[in-house]
Amino acid sequence: MTAAMPEKDPMGLLDLPLEILKMICAALCLHCQETENVGMPPGYFEHDRANRQGVISLCRVSKTLRVVAQPFLYHSVLYQWIPGDSSSIFHTIIHRPALAEWVKKLDVICDVRKCTQFPSPEEVKEINETAKQLCMLPTNGLEKERSSWFLFELLIALCPCLETVNVDIQTWPGPSMLERRKEELGQQAVTTKLKNICFHENNPLSMGFNASVVTTLLRSSPKLQHLKFAMFISTHGHSVNMFQGKSVRTLRTIHMEDCDMPDKRYSRSFLTDLITHAPNIKSFWYSCYFRSSTQVTRHMPFPRMLGFLEPLKHSLVSLDIDLTRDEDSKRAENVVNRGLLKSFTNLEKLGLDDTLFCMHRAEPTRDPTCLIEQIPLKLKLLTLRIHEDSPAWEDLTMLGKYGGWLPNLRTVVVQTITSHPVDQDPDEEGTFEVPSHVNGEHLKELFNRNGVQLRFKAPKSSYKEEGNTLV
Ligand SMILES: [Zn+2]
Ligand SMILES: [Zn+2]
Repeated sequence: MTAAMPEKDPMGLLDLPLEILKMICAALCLHCQETENVGMPPGYFEHDRANRQGVISLCRVSKTLRVVAQPFLYHSVLYQWIPGDSSSIFHTIIHRPALAEWVKKLDVICDVRKCTQFPSPEEVKEINETAKQLCMLPTNGLEKERSSWFLFELLIALCPCLETVNVDIQTWPGPSMLERRKEELGQQAVTTKLKNICFHENNPLSMGFNASVVTTLLRSSPKLQHLKFAMFISTHGHSVNMFQGKSVRTLRTIHMEDCDMPDKRYSRSFLTDLITHAPNIKSFWYSCYFRSSTQVTRHMPFPRMLGFLEPLKHSLVSLDIDLTRDEDSKRAENVVNRGLLKSFTNLEKLGLDDTLFCMHRAEPTRDPTCLIEQIPLKLKLLTLRIHEDSPAWEDLTMLGKYGGWLPNLRTVVVQTITSHPVDQDPDEEGTFEVPSHVNGEHLKELFNRNGVQLRFKAPKSSYKEEGNTLV
């Protein structure tokens, strides 16, 4: 009886046009809402779970709504390698292949400390069969112990509309099955829609960086646009060859967030490899993470890092270097040479620490022109991180007074760096946070006269707590 009854829509939702229903679903889909679609910021999974619940509720309203809403449930999938859950998403996709076309983002997480169980014989059989169909099976088949390690590679090959892969590099021992597929199928094997790749690692006991893993994904992603590393980058002195001589011309952004490059020779060869094989990058971003071995600046002072970026001098549009968490960032050799940044002629966005541009620590009596001398003419947005006690506050005042000749500058965002711990979210804006010796209102007025909006962000701490140190 119940089944024969016409569906009734209690909320009147079904009277809405299809496009509006899709917009409602997209508003609940974290994947559709993200602008960058790369990385896993704190709270990401809690947020995703809550939104997913909303989409599930919509699916339950009516059949029509389920048809509209269900794809959004699979836009972003998580493959988590933990006992009892090692293959659930894989299993679902194998048995309902139509779902694979909905998947646009794949997050892969592995906690090696929890991986104590092996897949069941049935699971191993299923994995081997799928790998064979996808031309990914090694000649001797997959060993039981290792088969679930490669499940996410099968997922990459199974989902033709995949745009984003977020992978914990520890998950992937290599050599890879995707590589095998590439050898067998050539160009047919590539993931043509993959635009964003983020390599991260959650394991503080990390052994470092595996270049062959990066190479595999680069080789199978000819449309790659955004590459992000959030990890410890070291191979104990070995040089890298991630690109194997092939440039990725589609690559637009390289973000190295919370990265560590503790090894001198290796860090340099890593950056050279990256930049020489990505001739069209527009955006470069580097920030370092608290670690006992950080001190990136000790072996690679900022001018040296800029030296690596020299080939991109006239093409780079956005540059941000944040070394505020590096204990050595105040060393004199970190200060950029006079006017060097100005020679990056196409920069529209620039983010810098005061320790990288202010020459007053070495030359206290010079005029406060450190900033004015560096700013390229096309700059639109300047983000500055200034230490509480820094002489660079004077440089900022000078820019406010005489910055009128910069025709495109519209916004300056300033963040105070404090040596004390702070509770606030460092990305929170709008709060008025400047050291007591700085007259923030006056500064705002100075900039305003030249048509530039000055904003202050909540302070960021360079204080190194025990919890921030991974030894
Ligand atoms: Zn979505
Ligand atoms: Zn200065």
